[in-house]
Amino acid sequence: MSLAYEEKPDFMASGSVRVRVPAKINLHLGVGPLRADGYHDLATVYQAISLYDDVHAHRSDTLALTIDGEGAGSLPLDDDNLAVRAVKALAAHTGLPAHARLHITKNIPVAGGLAGGSADCAATLVACDALWGTGLSRDELATIAATLGSDIPFLVLGGTALGTGRGEQVNPVLAAGTWHWVVGVAAGGLSTPAVYREIDRLRELGTAPDPAGSPDPLLAALRQPDPEVLAAVLANDLQAAAVSLRPQLRTTLHAGIDEGALAALVSGSGPTCLFLARDAEHANTLAASLAGRGVCRTVRTAHGPVSGARVTA
Ligand code: ATP
Repeated sequence: MSLAYEEKPDFMASGSVRVRVPAKINLHLGVGPLRADGYHDLATVYQAISLYDDVHAHRSDTLALTIDGEGAGSLPLDDDNLAVRAVKALAAHTGLPAHARLHITKNIPVAGGLAGGSADCAATLVACDALWGTGLSRDELATIAATLGSDIPFLVLGGTALGTGRGEQVNPVLAAGTWHWVVGVAAGGLSTPAVYREIDRLRELGTAPDPAGSPDPLLAALRQPDPEVLAAVLANDLQAAAVSLRPQLRTTLHAGIDEGALAALVSGSGPTCLFLARDAEHANTLAASLAGRGVCRTVRTAHGPVSGARVTA
């Protein structure tokens, strides 16, 4: 049954769709040995947190992209931008022309280990699916997303999820409540491939810490409400590599613990640092104290889990 014109969602009448998409953090990031194909097997627990990019997609006869906000000037506007790749991948999948005018407003720091580029890619898939009326399911969008990058299926889904394979095989997991984070944004980014090369190098030298192992203790900690229990089992195999490439991160992590964070860890491949707080109020105080220490470019607060890429207007 088709809807009467007046009953159709606003975006179908206005020819534009706005999608909000969260950043991701890894509560557990276990990195396996380097595979023959150059990838690593991962066992990771993702959480979507309340730091958002916005993608506004308009109907158009061509494909065009503009970006503003945090780090916008450093980003490509051509096929190297993951949002452009998303439009083309969805067009190829559906047989529709790759036509949309996109505007991205960035809030998620670029190359920060928060998967901002992957977030824009997930948001663009969701936006063009709505704009073009293709009506694909979340699972179908996640399948296209997996061809574009390892973190992208999770950002279509959101919440808290276990990621396996290269991280692209995601399954939702139960998280009992809301967790409160302070996000310490560093000046400048870190290249994800360079961080993976560094962990391989440290492991070859025998100087890498013991691997994070099974995510089961973390998954159990998520099913109960005490943040101290969660704090004790957070783990990131890439942390040693990020700190090795950017030694000042050690100072940032220690500053967070000094100021009362329950735990401090590098987010994904870094250099963003995450600090777990007891509750929202503690997160605000902790953020203010950390900002005063001058060890980060900016300090933000965020909570998780939140939903993945969603149409907002
Ligand atoms: P990941 O942890 O997924 O590697 P990250 O948070 O470390 O991600 P991103 O912000 O995703 O890093 O950016 C990594 C690189 O991806 C950037 O240097 C940039 O050139 C490229 N990129 C392509 N499209 C985008 C986009 N829309 N936003 C941000 N970066 C993009």
